[in-house]
Amino acid sequence: HQAKEKGLRHVMFNPAQTPDQARRLTIASELRRAIDGGDLRLYLQPKVDMVTGRVCGSEGLVRWQHATRGLIYPGEFIDLAESTGLIKPLTEWVIEAALSLNRGWAREGRALPIAVNLSARNLHDDELLTKIRQLHKALDVAPGLLEVELTESTVMEDAGFALQVLHDLRDDGIPLYIDDFGTGYSSLRYLQKLPVDYIKIDQSFVRHMSTHKDAALIVRSTIDLIHDLGRKAVAEGIETQQDWDQLALLGCDMAQGYLIAKPMPAEEFPAWVERFRPPETSGGPPS
Ligand code: C2E
Ligand code: MG
Ligand code: MG
Ligand code: MG
Repeated sequence: HQAKEKGLRHVMFNPAQTPDQARRLTIASELRRAIDGGDLRLYLQPKVDMVTGRVCGSEGLVRWQHATRGLIYPGEFIDLAESTGLIKPLTEWVIEAALSLNRGWAREGRALPIAVNLSARNLHDDELLTKIRQLHKALDVAPGLLEVELTESTVMEDAGFALQVLHDLRDDGIPLYIDDFGTGYSSLRYLQKLPVDYIKIDQSFVRHMSTHKDAALIVRSTIDLIHDLGRKAVAEGIETQQDWDQLALLGCDMAQGYLIAKPMPAEEFPAWVERFRPPETSGGPPS
């Protein structure tokens, strides 16, 4: 009886054996196999230049095509990938997929930049830059067609270190985005130092812009701030024509959101670009 109790204690106090941990380990090994076995998919969501109305690129968003559970979204496995070290092979897969797409598109004269998302862990991987260079070379893709997005909080987590990595990426000709801007907190002085080309205003502000005055005010002053810093403003999460009209009036440079398109399997993207007609701005279509 005592031994059984001891055993129970052992089970309870060994974290590796709690059901939660066991489940995480199972999913982690499944994810490992998914990365190696070709079960990741790259979805693309277009970005549109609000002045010309043209598609100016896309964001690459990873999904896991699971044999029994169907399509799994990154919200369910990126954290796990980060805590298990799988984020490294996952990110390398995403970067290679993005560059491979542009290798094919460039041959048809329709190359367009694809932005990939990096995690904090990726910044501390000193092989990342070498890998990116190798892939550009091996796949013969022009610089500028791979772009990088980093969230404001990732960059702020280790500000001094991140700044160095951003400079290294930028020196290699990689356009940079600050993602989810407005949710972390950056000092203006630091923001000014970041070698980034674009700042993406977080969806939470954009989504409430047409119904909440304070959200609209934040979006307006954020766009002004971004322009004062000499950067381009990107709004993500644009879902309605009203959002588009308001953002166009505020001088937002680029738009991304369900109004334009939901993320789609990469192979559908070129045909989608062919068919695309920009939303008309209330003052008439862009000339
Ligand atoms: P994110 O980088 O901020 O990407 C935008 C997310 O918002 C995407 O969700 C996209 O589908 C969604 N979205 C875009 N427009 C709209 C809209 O109009 N309305 C609504 N409701 N949602 C919209 P997704 O694909 O589920 O990705 C979620 C997050 O997962 C991303 O946020 C990014 O932080 C992370 N993620 C995705 N792919 C990768 C990856 O390859 N590596 C890393 N490290 N993180 C990734
Ligand atoms: Mg992003
Ligand atoms: Mg975002
Ligand atoms: Mg986000």
